[in-house]
Amino acid sequence: MNLILLGPPGAGKGTQAKRLEDKYGLKQLSTGDMLRAAVASGSELGQKAKAIMDAGNLVSDDIMIAMIAERIEQPDCAKGFILDGFPRTVPQAEGLDAMLARKGLRLDAVIEIVVDDEALLDRIRTRIAQTPESERRADDTPETLQTRLDVYYRQTAPILPYYEGRGMLKKVDGMRPIDEVTAQIEALLPVGV
Ligand code: AMP
Repeated sequence: MNLILLGPPGAGKGTQAKRLEDKYGLKQLSTGDMLRAAVASGSELGQKAKAIMDAGNLVSDDIMIAMIAERIEQPDCAKGFILDGFPRTVPQAEGLDAMLARKGLRLDAVIEIVVDDEALLDRIRTRIAQTPESERRADDTPETLQTRLDVYYRQTAPILPYYEGRGMLKKVDGMRPIDEVTAQIEALLPVGV
């Protein structure tokens, strides 16, 4: 089973992806985590990506599509994957479609976790307050969150109609408690998985 979790920063995509990963033996693929690992390793990609990420902007589509194409080939994705943070632009969504078609794979569900902006700002503020400074993400600041939200609405939200037009988009209420959101997602998954 191959899934996409969509939603603004702080919507809970990572939290939900981890739960589905454990329960269904799927692999969570968080492009944000992959990029942070590249930054930490000091690789050429990491050096390029760092300033872009710190500012809350998006790394180029070509890099991201190539990163996911290579990753889903790995054996740990054999039972399926959950994309968390990808695609983030219409060209990435198109690139993903082309890549899956080439590999003979398909998407089973695209799930949008809907949360309003005020709640997102509150969540990030709480996350900042509860995380020691040395462990905070460089882009977890109220100012960068505003940029990340703007980028989400301008560049990522247009992929919602892309999947809606293909009859694939499903929505869950991300304002509900974590367990309820998980239950809503599970109710949308194809039967028999
Ligand atoms: P995230 O952890 O998903 O919030 O991602 C953190 C940052 O990594 C984003 O603000 C972007 O700078 C970068 N990033 C993650 N995924 C993508 C993607 N699919 N396309 C472009 N940039 C990305």
